[in-house]
Amino acid sequence: MIGQVACRQAEQALQSYVDRALSDDDVAAIERHLAGCQACARCYRLERQIRDGLRKAGDEPCPEALKTRLRNLCAECDCEE
Ligand SMILES: [Zn+2]
Repeated sequence: MIGQVACRQAEQALQSYVDRALSDDDVAAIERHLAGCQACARCYRLERQIRDGLRKAGDEPCPEALKTRLRNLCAECDCEE
């Protein structure tokens, strides 16, 4: 994932990014995209908020439910192909 990242790629990588599960190159690519794309930056903030909220609530994260919720929240990230 070197160079320009499409919104769809960024969206798919956001969860791994939040989990710190990406390589340094991928992290750099995502950060470049977030810096230039308000829709994905907003999606990233929402994702962080949800994860922080889950941690504070002391709930076990439910990956499938979380993914569904994020997909709904991030629908407007499809700003380009
Ligand atoms: Zn984007």
